[in-house]
Amino acid sequence: MASLFGHGLVGYTLSKVIDSKHNRLLVLLAIGSAILPDIDVLTFNFGIPYSHPFGHRGFTHSIVFAISWAIVLSLMFGKRRKLMFFLVLFFSTISHGVLDALTTGGKGVGFFIPFNNERFFFSIQVIKVSPIGISEFFSKWGVQVIISELKYIAVPCVVVLLFLYLIKRLNGHKERTGRGR
Ligand SMILES: [Zn+2]
Repeated sequence: MASLFGHGLVGYTLSKVIDSKHNRLLVLLAIGSAILPDIDVLTFNFGIPYSHPFGHRGFTHSIVFAISWAIVLSLMFGKRRKLMFFLVLFFSTISHGVLDALTTGGKGVGFFIPFNNERFFFSIQVIKVSPIGISEFFSKWGVQVIISELKYIAVPCVVVLLFLYLIKRLNGHKERTGRGR
């Protein structure tokens, strides 16, 4: 995985980009959905090996899982905006696997489980893989992870969010001056 912070930030940014209404519940669900796939680290406790379809970076990191999860949540919470909820939650959930496939370690991501159990990485792997344990996170390794995530996740997200903010300000300004006339 990239770290929980990296995944959560991408979910937050995606929700802001896709849903111009910035629905607060949807923002929270997007952050949670971007982090959720790593719940599969629990399967290590049940002796399920990493490379198993239900192992780490397996089913919960797949496209089928992202679609199913987004459908369930959009039906539960989407009300009149089910399609918007679905889109934001699908992209937030699958963004997790996409980030993982850009990391430097672990096994690849099972994007096509249950149809194909193969694990995939992208050809560019730039994000330093985050340790699974908390104690390891506060180590030299953790520092390297933070630096690489700042560079490849946080900076791009902040740039996108700033850009959105500026567009909104400009539009607001136009509306105000338009109304004044
Ligand atoms: Zn992961």
